[in-house]
Amino acid sequence: MSEEADIVIIGAGVIGCGLALELSRRGHRTINVDKASAAGAGSTINSCAIVRFSYSTAAGVNFSWEGAQYWLDWTNHIGAEDELGLIDYHEVGQLVLMTDDDGHAHRVKSLWEQLDIPFETLDLDELAERFPYFDLGLYGPPTRPDDPAFWKDAIGSITGAIFTGQAGYVSDPQLSCHNLQRGAEALGGSFLFGAEVVEINQADGVVSGVQLADGRSIDAPVVVNVAGPHSAVINRMAGVYDAMNIKTAALRHEVHHVPAPEGVDFMTAGVVAADNDLGIYFRPEVGNHVLIGSGDPECDPREFVDPDDYNTSLTEEQWNAQVLRASRRMPQLGMPHERKGIVDLYDVSDDWLPIYDRTDLDGFYVAIGTSGNQYKNAGVAAHAMAELIEAVEGGHDHDADPVQVVGRYTGRSFDMAAYSRNREINTESSMSVHG
Ligand SMILES: Cc1cc2nc3c(=O)[nH]c(=O)nc-3n(C[C@H](O)[C@H](O)[C@H](O)COP(=O)(O)OP(=O)(O)OC[C@H]3O[C@@H](n4cnc5c(N)ncnc54)[C@H](O)[C@@H]3O)c2cc1C
Repeated sequence: MSEEADIVIIGAGVIGCGLALELSRRGHRTINVDKASAAGAGSTINSCAIVRFSYSTAAGVNFSWEGAQYWLDWTNHIGAEDELGLIDYHEVGQLVLMTDDDGHAHRVKSLWEQLDIPFETLDLDELAERFPYFDLGLYGPPTRPDDPAFWKDAIGSITGAIFTGQAGYVSDPQLSCHNLQRGAEALGGSFLFGAEVVEINQADGVVSGVQLADGRSIDAPVVVNVAGPHSAVINRMAGVYDAMNIKTAALRHEVHHVPAPEGVDFMTAGVVAADNDLGIYFRPEVGNHVLIGSGDPECDPREFVDPDDYNTSLTEEQWNAQVLRASRRMPQLGMPHERKGIVDLYDVSDDWLPIYDRTDLDGFYVAIGTSGNQYKNAGVAAHAMAELIEAVEGGHDHDADPVQVVGRYTGRSFDMAAYSRNREINTESSMSVHG
């Protein structure tokens, strides 16, 4: 049995569902195929869903600033009813703690100045007044608990912070996918769950659709790989993996949840924070908890894994590293004996920047390499991918003359060469989740 579509989207995570809505809105007949049983059940379900603008490249800052506008305008963007309700965007703001040695934080500050991102600079007194539960000591560079240096006292203080008010987080990332699904369906998009792609069909050297594990196939002149941490598996199926200059791989990550510091209502007084001095980031989490993630400091091991076979349990080593680091910044943090949190995979590219591009196989596109930092960009990435697909299918030579995209909300322009599969490694990248 075979079905037909204009465009098959492999994956129904936040990027795949975002793309379905954008393409359906433009009149294309899309089918998302996902081996999971519902939208957003892949890596998106465990996303910290932080919306921030603290990237190390101008392209990254501009893209994320445009991306944030979609969350602020979510009801209009979805444009349809969802029986499960729409997500809430918690606009709590983001702090980037500053130290003299933190090159990334200084770079972010100068990019925000150059690119007109609204922010305030907070000195130590202002930080202490607004976040009285913070210890402002200088502890870095980050180390692990098995290193004696981990336990040393603070040597002086951090220097302050920058704060941007429109940053925040989405508390239910899977619901955001369902919202996007319902938006796409209202415009004619369809979704097939429990549908595993096992082959990328080709005829005369161009893509012709996908083959599913249950024997069904879908014919389409355009197929987009949005398979998250399985992106490299799908690229190998399509025979495009070797020719790409920038590769992707699945990286295991842990995120931990602990009770907020005693007496602090972190849901209202809390903030999204990037703390490179300690190698962590954190934000409020439901139940007056603090969610703690790793900022990928050099001392932490990088665990690349088979996306179908990896340890899905929290480990004592990483729990101790992340939670103890956070308890230096917030000494009253709850330290439960029982470990709580999630384990999931980033789809990391060689330079931690995404690949939004065509491939050498005509009709086969990729929106991959989201490197733990593209949830926030689902709206703008979908818009950019739709512009790119329409240009290339219309005969434009994107490799020779990269597509330029104008942001729907901010009017800022995005040179899609920045996201090319054939770019050189971008040495301005932080080579970490910060992008
Ligand atoms: C722990 C963690 C924390 C993060 N925190 C943040 C954050 O705070 N802010 C931020 O901006 N970003 C964050 N990210 C990154 C962000 O969540 C991802 O970039 C985003 O969710 C990726 O969405 P996606 O649609 O590309 O992939 P996914 O959500 O992984 O979706 C891919 C889908 O493809 C399907 N699939 C795979 N193979 C096949 C196949 N053969 N056939 C059919 N279907 C297939 C899967 O079932 C899956 O549903 C985080 C990621 C993780 C893992």
